[in-house]
Amino acid sequence: MQVPPFSLSQQLADLGPELDAAVLRVLHSGQYIGGSEIQAFERSFAEAVGTAHAVGCNSGTDALILALRGLGIGSGDEVITASFSFFATAEAISAVGATPVFVDVDPATYLIDLNRIEAAITPRTRALMPVHLFGRPVEMTRLMAIAERHDLRVVEDCAQATGAHWNGRSVGSWGDVGCFSFFPTKNLGAAGDGGAVCCHNPELAQRMRELAVHGMPRRYLHTELGYNSRLDALQAAVLNVKLPHLSRWVERRAAIAARYSAALQDLPGVQLPESDADGGHGWNQFVIRIQRCASGQELCGGSCPADCSDHGLPDSRCRDWLKQSLQEQGVNTIIYYPIPIHRQPAYSDLNLAPGSLPITEQLCSEVLSLPIFPELTNEQQDRVITVLKTLLENQPPKEMMNAAA
Ligand SMILES: *Cc1c(COP(=O)(O)O)cnc(C)c1O
Repeated sequence: MQVPPFSLSQQLADLGPELDAAVLRVLHSGQYIGGSEIQAFERSFAEAVGTAHAVGCNSGTDALILALRGLGIGSGDEVITASFSFFATAEAISAVGATPVFVDVDPATYLIDLNRIEAAITPRTRALMPVHLFGRPVEMTRLMAIAERHDLRVVEDCAQATGAHWNGRSVGSWGDVGCFSFFPTKNLGAAGDGGAVCCHNPELAQRMRELAVHGMPRRYLHTELGYNSRLDALQAAVLNVKLPHLSRWVERRAAIAARYSAALQDLPGVQLPESDADGGHGWNQFVIRIQRCASGQELCGGSCPADCSDHGLPDSRCRDWLKQSLQEQGVNTIIYYPIPIHRQPAYSDLNLAPGSLPITEQLCSEVLSLPIFPELTNEQQDRVITVLKTLLENQPPKEMMNAAA
């Protein structure tokens, strides 16, 4: 049995006819840019998030850029965020001319360590960009209190957390702007790229809307340099079909996560993701940590498929061995993320040496994302659990070590 890390096939079988009809309707309408599909989606998405406004755009990355530009953040400004995230988080900050300032993460939640934020604030700090990584919401009550104390704007990176809540309120409704991605593997995926910015303030919404269309408040009047970053009507039509299913899908993700947690507890060398007491986790990923090497129990027999020393990162051999061994038995996993943003070649000018964000670096060497998506069957999940248990409960099975060599 092959278990993929993500698959759309069952969702397409379930929604196919409705999606086909929606796409054909747009195709034959000739209304590809703007129009009623976009308006309908923006209205229902704002309602789902609990903001007065939602503005569709081209991607989650563009959503972050539009939010920062909309808030007037640019050259000379610093934005505090996490290095344990997808690259686009920091890339957007740099794209507007500001500087990302990385704060290490909390090893229990994998999220920005709220206790370390204030030490990173300087006179140039303009905003905080919390990332609700893997769908787990940052404690927004505490984060907003820090922002208020220091008069900082808040841009939430909700790319992985559509449908997630903190304290009964959707992510993206806490800060000045909530930024969402509709990349196909996210909790609400389009049939291609797409994104949205959500906010309460009508002037800010209007400003971001204009920036997304060449800084153009009315036809052929350009008041500032903007972007061409619209959500197109075909994507909006797909999203209109999918949005009503979002909360059911997130509930199913949570049920899968709970099932993994129950089945894998007390597995030696594995740390499970902390379940959130608040219950609003969006579970875009179920990320375990493999720590056998750290505890001195060599599982991998020293065969490292990837050269982890390349980036000055901690030893990842046990994780890499496990990933490869799972794959050999049809269980496909993904590493989010093998190299932290601050150690990427593109950010070498920040001069952040190995060890500068030790928890982030440790996580990059230990994390492994198990298959999780709403249509994953119990049989597929049982297969993941059985293979994982067999690999970790037994001492390195000889034949496997030979196979890896
Ligand atoms: C996916 C993602 C983005 C970027 O979204 P795109 O739609 O791919 O541009 C930004 N931040 C995080 C944390 C993401 O996972």
